[in-house]
Amino acid sequence: MLTPVERGGLYLPDCGLWMDARRPKPFAVVSHAHSDHTARHESFLATPPTIDFIRIRLGDAVARRGIPLNYRETYQHGPLNIQLYPAGHVLGSAMVRVETPSGESLLYTGDFKTRPGFAAEPIEIPQADTLVMESTFGRPEFVFPPTETIQAGILNFCRETLNDGQVPILLAYSLGKAQEVLKILEAAELPIMAHRTIRALNQVYAQHGIPMPETRPLDFDNLPAQVVVMPPTIRKQIPADIPAHRLAMISGWALQESARYRYRTDTVLPLSDHADYPDLLQFVEQVNPRTTYLMHGSTASLAADLRRRGREAWSLNRDDQLELL
Ligand SMILES: [Zn+2]
Repeated sequence: MLTPVERGGLYLPDCGLWMDARRPKPFAVVSHAHSDHTARHESFLATPPTIDFIRIRLGDAVARRGIPLNYRETYQHGPLNIQLYPAGHVLGSAMVRVETPSGESLLYTGDFKTRPGFAAEPIEIPQADTLVMESTFGRPEFVFPPTETIQAGILNFCRETLNDGQVPILLAYSLGKAQEVLKILEAAELPIMAHRTIRALNQVYAQHGIPMPETRPLDFDNLPAQVVVMPPTIRKQIPADIPAHRLAMISGWALQESARYRYRTDTVLPLSDHADYPDLLQFVEQVNPRTTYLMHGSTASLAADLRRRGREAWSLNRDDQLELL
């Protein structure tokens, strides 16, 4: 039986398998290198880019405990066959497909994005009997604009700010979002300064066949008229006396009216590395599972929407699944 439970990560009690555990485990599958999906496990299964990101973020001692598994190859864990499929979220991100000897299968998405991007492998969607899906943007109001519109919005913000003699500062998470932004800026040949955490991760992209554009190291004491890309987590380090600038947060939450006030930036631009609501519905159709469990975000309401569409769907951490058990 492959019955999933949420316990600080996804756990399959019947076979003792952890995925994306937030606390260290003897063995876990790590879907991607974002910090809320990794821990200092004694041993873990991940794609080669994810292990390389973990080397930069958690050190070589942790990375050496990683067992590399390429997409679509099979790893035997006890009686289980484990395969990883590209999740389209960030470089190296994987969906995890587990199959028992009797042929029962479960697909865990981790974070995923179905739209093609510049800085991640395109998603590949396998079928499974049971689906465990993230539902970060699982409400009908979350419909992202066309990709070209989003890209044009980022470039317009940068060009207008530079034309006004100010410095555009883009706040983008250092793994994945920043590289997607860098590739958009590269196509427009805009000069870029990037924070060192982003530049360090860029090396892994180059090693895995996605070279990033030239960037200068970010130096607040010497800020020319260039686009600045830096993680939002260090914005408090921006000195008060830097030249005139405008701040843009790069986030799918831009679709919410309140986002600009919440992030306290001049604008919020809706580039996301997640699926939006129509993408989530379409994804369930493509996997075509018997049962869908939802994690993160609007789990209960998306489960209800899926049930109205004739799908058996439940929130993984809420009471609605008790009806099923
Ligand atoms: Zn993520």
